[in-house]
Amino acid sequence: MRITRLETLRLRCPVDPNHTRPSSRFVHDGSIHLRIHTDAGVTGLGEPSPYGGPLPRVADILEREIQPLLVGKAPTELVASLTRLKDYPEGFGHGNVPYDAAWAGVEQALWDIEGKVRGLPLYRLLNPALTSTPRLRVYASGGMSYEHEPPELIVEEAALCQAQGYTAWKMRPSVPGEATRSQHNRTSPPIDMRRLLAMVEGVRRAVGDDMDLLVDTGCRCRDIQEATDLARALEELGFCLFEEPLPRVIDDYARLAEAVKIPISSGESLVSSRQVAPWLKQRALDVVQPDGNLAGITGVLEIARLAEANGIPCVLHNWANPISLAANLHLAAAIPNCSLVEYPILYNPLRTELVQDPWHPLNGYLEIPDRPGLGVELDEQAVRRYSV
Ligand SMILES: [Mg+2]
Repeated sequence: MRITRLETLRLRCPVDPNHTRPSSRFVHDGSIHLRIHTDAGVTGLGEPSPYGGPLPRVADILEREIQPLLVGKAPTELVASLTRLKDYPEGFGHGNVPYDAAWAGVEQALWDIEGKVRGLPLYRLLNPALTSTPRLRVYASGGMSYEHEPPELIVEEAALCQAQGYTAWKMRPSVPGEATRSQHNRTSPPIDMRRLLAMVEGVRRAVGDDMDLLVDTGCRCRDIQEATDLARALEELGFCLFEEPLPRVIDDYARLAEAVKIPISSGESLVSSRQVAPWLKQRALDVVQPDGNLAGITGVLEIARLAEANGIPCVLHNWANPISLAANLHLAAAIPNCSLVEYPILYNPLRTELVQDPWHPLNGYLEIPDRPGLGVELDEQAVRRYSV
């Protein structure tokens, strides 16, 4: 069996203005998906589109740079040598989001083909010791709002998720304006701490003690003191995870992690064990959050292995569409130190319409269907509907 073609699907779906809940404003309205075709008629699916963003550069890389490397090759041989392939030619991957994303999508698609050829679900390929159908605990990831909106909406969302059966939920601090989206660098808007503290208190009061609560400040605390104060307040309220408190400086995370009790996490942008190693060496993280949508299959596996060797659990980051969700769930099932996966609850038609049989959590758990490969197939009508 040989690869004949890489097909990139550029998809976009309109935002429905009738969705007025805060989280809905952050709809993923575009994405790139990938189909790898073979001369045996087997195709593999991948999602090279981190954060659900359109990233047209990714499609360019796939079509012009990666496709010539793959056409004519046997998918099984590529799966066996992916790390070498990813490092070739020099400069690909590692710290370069469009390349990392493109290769992550390629890996997903190649493993999907491998699973289909061997008649096994991906988690079995990655961990043959797994025999029963994996069921993964997920946390509802939402809790987004703007400062001009009433904070009660966030409290309502947490209670709604609890009523839907979720046992864990994540929120973010409000952002000041509709145009502000850069939450991952030092230019991010400061957090209105009074407002945030009122929200986290309101949420805890509304859901009681039975729900695990997580906060992701998107690297937005002003300094270690502010992050420490917030961490202590979250500890008082029994929050279980404090994600990306500060801009991504290892020394700062190490100081904070030592000063507070609540577990500190990061890692959604880290794609290899090489990148994660210095964080673990300095004990800067209590939880690592790789994502198969950016680190790819091999990246998540090697990061999880390194984390496990350091006694650190993984909570997989997951912020894209159904194909990456599938890849991340298979990964979470296959690695021994991951017992929680992110499940975005934002309004997103691609998540519910793009595949034939979308996976929905039941009572806070997602079961991986017993199908070969990733176990998801595109709905061709939805692909036509949203293609641009
Ligand atoms: Mg995050």
